[in-house]
This record gives sequence, C-alpha cells and structure tokens, in this order.
Amino acid sequence: MGLSVFISADIEGTAGVVSLLQCVPGEAEYEMGKRLMTGEVNAAVQGAIDAGASRIVVCDAHANMQNILPEQLLPEAELVRGAIRDSLQMQGIDDTYDALFVTGAHAAAGTHRGVLDHSWVSRMVYNIRIDGATLNEPCLNAITAGYYGVPLVMVSGDCAMVEQTKAVMPDVRGAVVKEGYSRYCARSLHPERARALIRETAREALENLEQFKPVSVPNPLCMEIDFYRTDMADAAELVPGVKRLGSRTVSFTGHPEEVFRVQELVLYRLKYEM
Ligand SMILES: [Zn+2]
Repeated sequence: MGLSVFISADIEGTAGVVSLLQCVPGEAEYEMGKRLMTGEVNAAVQGAIDAGASRIVVCDAHANMQNILPEQLLPEAELVRGAIRDSLQMQGIDDTYDALFVTGAHAAAGTHRGVLDHSWVSRMVYNIRIDGATLNEPCLNAITAGYYGVPLVMVSGDCAMVEQTKAVMPDVRGAVVKEGYSRYCARSLHPERARALIRETAREALENLEQFKPVSVPNPLCMEIDFYRTDMADAAELVPGVKRLGSRTVSFTGHPEEVFRVQELVLYRLKYEM
C-alpha cells in the first residue's frame, strides 16, 4: 500500500494568475484561471505519483469550490468539489492520510507584495488568528491537518506566501511560481516551468516524509476573526458560541473540530447573507 496524499488547491497562487478576472466565476478570464489551476494541481498529483502515492484526493478550495476541471484532472486523483462543507479548504481530511500539499496558495491579508493576498474571503476578513497567531491559509490548513496527525509538506504559490509559510514551518518545501510587484502584478514562470517545479517539489517532499511533523493542535483551540465592517461581526455573533470581542472582532473557543466547523459557518453565513 502506497502513501495517501491530500491536496488542498486554491487558485490565486497559480503561475500567470494576477487578477480577480481570473479567479471569479463569470469574469472574463475565469476559464483561463481554471485551466491554469488544473494544470498545477495535476503537476502536484504527478509528483505524488512519482514518489509512490497510491491514493490522492484533491480538494477544490476556492470561491464556490468548483474550479478544477474534472475531466482534465489526472485519473489517479479523486476530487472533492462544491459547497456546503464543514471544513473550508480541507473537506474530507482525516487520519488516513500521510501528507498534505497546498497548491495555488497566496499570502495572508495585508501582506506587502502578496499577489491577491487575503485570508479566506477577501472582502470580509482582515485577519484570522489561532491562539493569538495571525496565519495565512496554508498554515491554517496545516492546523486542520495537524489535528488528524497529517503534516503539511509542500506549498506552491507566490514568493510572499512561501516566505510567510516557512517563517512558521521552516521545513515545508516551497515551489515559488511567481514574485509579486504589487497585489495585482507579478513576474511569473511559464505554466510549463511552474508545473515542472511543482511536480519536482512535491516528489522531493514526499520522498522525505520522515522529516516532517504534523502541527500539534491544542484542545481547546481559540480562533479570532477581525472583519472589515461591524455588520459582519454583527452577523457572525449570531452563531452560537461566537463571542464579540470588539466592534469588528469575534472569537470562538472550543474543540478543534468545532472551530473548523464554526469557521465555515461564520463565513458561509456572511457570504450568503451580506
Ligand atoms: Zn482562493
């Protein structure tokens, strides 16, 4: 029996993606964004296969969670697609996996030269903290995986995101596919070069799996979210167990699995009611 790999795939960190036109369903360049994203996901899948993985599950982790083109995904991978979920970008993770890859990732909201930088939902979330630490999405996903004993071993995306992730988890392998000049401008590898780099980085990480440890996750876990506007905190506060810490800040403390669910619930509620 080979290794089991879980891949959480976002779009903003993909080579060649610099604009919301490529990331938002219905926008002019969205079809291009989906193709580029799917190509990089396939590269990560191929890297896992190269290292001997026998089970690969890809979780579509952007916007409506329906971006990866199912018929273009390599047939060795299964695909988690669509909403409603209980674990945002990590739907389906459990203790049967050996490693986590995060592809197409971007830096946390407020990161200088982070291409399309944001945290979960760009028009709502200013900061998200776990036990006091402000974290980007790959690090947040590493906590979810860590709860199930699964280590984050590899990320791909822009330079700012890779540096930010390595500042928290120095051992994580990073494939830098572009370097930001601003939030909406980057110098990017050609998609073919980016895919080759991702494949190689994924393979190398998985072949050195013994070097990685899952994040240890305390119980209870405390999550805080700073929103952009007070009405967002007003709505979030209606979710049972969520506390209002300030005019734009809420918190939730509980069992890690409850925290993952409440995070989804708070953001889902806001996405569809605002
Ligand atoms: Zn995204």
